Amino acid sequence: MCPHGPNDDCECRKPKPTMILDAAKDFSLDLSNIYMIGDHRSDVVAGKNAGAKAILVRTARNGQDEGPEADFVARNLTEAVDHIIAA
Ligand SMILES: [Zn+2]
Repeated sequence: MCPHGPNDDCECRKPKPTMILDAAKDFSLDLSNIYMIGDHRSDVVAGKNAGAKAILVRTARNGQDEGPEADFVARNLTEAVDHIIAA
């Protein structure tokens, strides 16, 4: 996890993709076959910035944290997983 605050301008805080890219390198993952699932726009943008597919799950605390970047918007994690399985 990123231990920094939003004003620290670090390289690991979402929506920067650094942590996703590092994980892909560590585990030899093909980012074009990876789904980033998150409940905040910063999760979705980080996934897209890394070259992954991104699913927004509408369970964010305010229920409104949505951006146009998501490849799919799911009501919950089950719907997100169903989408991936059907792909
Ligand atoms: Zn950080």
